[in-house]
Amino acid sequence: MSEHISFSKQVELYVDRAAELTPYPQGLIDQIRITNSVYQIQFPLKRDDGSIEVIQAWRAEHSHHIRPVKGGIRFSEHADQDEVIALASLMTYKCAIVDVPYGGGKGAIKINPRNYSKAELERITRRYTYELVQKNFIGPGVDVPAPDYGTGEKEMAWIVDTYSSLSNGELDSAACVTGKPISEGGIHGRREATGRGVMFGIREACANVKDMKRIGLKAGLDGKKVVIQGFGNVGYHSAKFLAEEGAQIIAILEYDGAIHNEKGVDIEDVFQFRKENGSFKNYPGATFLEDTRTALELPCDILVPAALENQITSENAKRIQAKIIGEGANGPTTYKAAEELHKKGVLVIPDLYLNAGGVTVSYFEWLKNLSHIQFGRMQKRFEEGSNRKILSKVEELTGKVLDPEEAKYLTEGPSELALVNSGLEETMIEAYRSIREIQAKHDDKIDLRRAAFIFALDKVANSYYMRGIFP
Ligand code: NAD
Repeated sequence: MSEHISFSKQVELYVDRAAELTPYPQGLIDQIRITNSVYQIQFPLKRDDGSIEVIQAWRAEHSHHIRPVKGGIRFSEHADQDEVIALASLMTYKCAIVDVPYGGGKGAIKINPRNYSKAELERITRRYTYELVQKNFIGPGVDVPAPDYGTGEKEMAWIVDTYSSLSNGELDSAACVTGKPISEGGIHGRREATGRGVMFGIREACANVKDMKRIGLKAGLDGKKVVIQGFGNVGYHSAKFLAEEGAQIIAILEYDGAIHNEKGVDIEDVFQFRKENGSFKNYPGATFLEDTRTALELPCDILVPAALENQITSENAKRIQAKIIGEGANGPTTYKAAEELHKKGVLVIPDLYLNAGGVTVSYFEWLKNLSHIQFGRMQKRFEEGSNRKILSKVEELTGKVLDPEEAKYLTEGPSELALVNSGLEETMIEAYRSIREIQAKHDDKIDLRRAAFIFALDKVANSYYMRGIFP
């Protein structure tokens, strides 16, 4: 099969292969696979120098089997309609896997944000939001965007502000977008959620003694050598949390060069250096590699692609030496490469599961916005009080008194961040186990991606049946 299969076609092929192992009629699979609606927009931007530029953008709503649809907005010069459709469809399956009640959506604006001033980016984002409002492609119960490649809290704040100013006092308007700054209705833990989820997923996979034995590794994350591609939101946080769990980050790859040190690098130190210098060049703690693409082929235990799609292809798959690939990015492995990696025995933890931590915590943020109350606000003090009463009784009965630090640690009520992180951990672990179970039901002959698609198809098909659409 030719490698030149479009991204959306690749996702469809994954669906078809999974569907072969499900009992659903072809018509239902066709309905699940297609994209319900795509809005293509072109609008003018007045640049800071007074010139006019036409900006191209999209919003795709892949599946209306549940409303709202949900998915990020990316700023990328490589964006096109096919990519947006592919990413929106992945969102449908992702949401099903982590059990969040959304259909899949995705948006993109075809720009390289590095080439625009902050004021220009604000004008672009506000105009895009305005266009979405005009066509009912945004709203708390309709379509809820989030950050993605090239976007973050700043853009989400502009979106919520524009939407609110057009929605005329709509009480739930803050829930029109997630990934907002805390002050604009965001939630603690959303910024780092995707990377934290990547860590939980890889940790869970590495805990399986049998699976680790098959690929010649010891169970656990401790001492595992990791290569990270992309040092943005997902890459940086994945690296940070994997390192905190004992893994060694031996290489970090960016579009303009990579760094490599077999003994591991200090993530915060690298982050500060890149922030101050704009590149990895001359970083004192590691060797600089100009050729960032071949750095993907460095010997390591775990490779985490966390930049863009189509990074591991049939061309370089045979040279990839990692035993585990944890797909932080969406679509980093092509369909053909995925087949080769499976044959080679590489354990690929697929994107539609592994990077679902972002949408999971976005769901918590959306719930927070709809309920208009911060998680933990009602119970934090109450639980603290109850815990203190129990501790006092224990101290009275044993005659031992804990020092204030220890007592505080044992009695503290849950903060919003603690609740979010615990909900995320539970979600990622449970979803992994469900996917692994499906793989086991097929005698471990299918890869985790196919198992994940089967799991997702079961959920989406069930939703259609429950609503009587396919009785
Ligand atoms: P980001 O913009 O914060 O970071 C991406 C990083 O990749 C940037 O630092 C960029 O310079 C770097 N990069 C670009 N091309 C590269 C190349 N060829 N080699 C190495 N590095 C390169 O974006 P992000 O939010 O971290 O998203 C990264 C991926 O994760 C995307 O595929 C996105 O769809 C996916 N994702 C993001 C989230 C989220 O919550 N942000 C959630 C799920 C999935």
